[in-house]
Amino acid sequence: MSNTNNVREDRGTVPLSTSDNYKEFYSASCLLCPQHCKLRPGQSGRCHARVNREGKVVSSTYGEVAAWNVDPIEKKPLYHFYPGSSIFSVGGFGCNLSCSFCQNHEISQKHQVGRKVTPAQLAEQAQNSLGVCFTYSEPSMWFEMIRDTAPLVRAQGGKVVLVSNGTISPHFIEELIPWLDAINIDIKAFSEEFYQTYCGGKLAWVLDNVERLAGRVHLEITTLVIQGANDDSKEIGELAQWLHGLNVPLAWHLSAYHPAYRLAVPPTDRETLERLWNIAKEYLPYVYLGNVRGGDTTFCPQCGEAVIRREPVLVNRLEQGCCPKCRTAIFGVGML
Ligand code: SF4
Repeated sequence: MSNTNNVREDRGTVPLSTSDNYKEFYSASCLLCPQHCKLRPGQSGRCHARVNREGKVVSSTYGEVAAWNVDPIEKKPLYHFYPGSSIFSVGGFGCNLSCSFCQNHEISQKHQVGRKVTPAQLAEQAQNSLGVCFTYSEPSMWFEMIRDTAPLVRAQGGKVVLVSNGTISPHFIEELIPWLDAINIDIKAFSEEFYQTYCGGKLAWVLDNVERLAGRVHLEITTLVIQGANDDSKEIGELAQWLHGLNVPLAWHLSAYHPAYRLAVPPTDRETLERLWNIAKEYLPYVYLGNVRGGDTTFCPQCGEAVIRREPVLVNRLEQGCCPKCRTAIFGVGML
């Protein structure tokens, strides 16, 4: 990134002209995510959430809310983190990926003017629920808002949760980790080609962050299954093995795609999800189906007892976090 201080010292007053030299002098690389956009003055990054202002890349969405709601924690989805609770959920604009199937493209793929809030106001909104969940668009694009809000929520006893695409530079995710209680990360496919073709990102960036978070923050993974694109049995089996190889407890949500944004593929059928569920279950004890009815029950990995049912209403049968039948401890936080 350009050193603005040096520029000011060398040139005296900051010029307001936009000569080529000026443009070159003040171009700056954004380091927040591994896309590393190189921005000319006034130019926004591919996320629509960062802009070069006088040689310095800053947030252009700080304090601007695109959407907020109080949601069941299961909707994130997080099935092993305070089941049955509600959490204040909020998101800004922008995303550093451009998935052609984005289910939230109205707020992720552009920047509109949103409702203005402060971190203190977000913390206040979070008071009557489990805490705050940064979600809907890519939360790391709202890095400064998370950094400024999380300590306030923690100070009032709340939890801090992210739902992320996992594409953030190591330095910045490390800065957030001490403030995070749980995270759901999308692994959109186990294929670099998929990430390149459909998302404009890299699988390696995401896997690197999943490894970084594993065992340090409560972790659940989501894969939106698109028929013919990322539903290959071998590929899902390899991803299941990779997740198993992390050697940490986690839950994996295989969710059904519904047509959205630019992709016109038929909705994923139940048969496909169940085929992949059967493969995943060979390696992982907690695998769920999403965006379809059924497939959301937690079974004891030891005796097979249904310990948490979620339809039509949540029924938690755990006793002190354990299966009521065989006493096996069920992975999670706040599971009582
Ligand atoms: S955060 Fe935005 S501007 Fe910065 S590198 Fe990523 S996509 Fe580019």
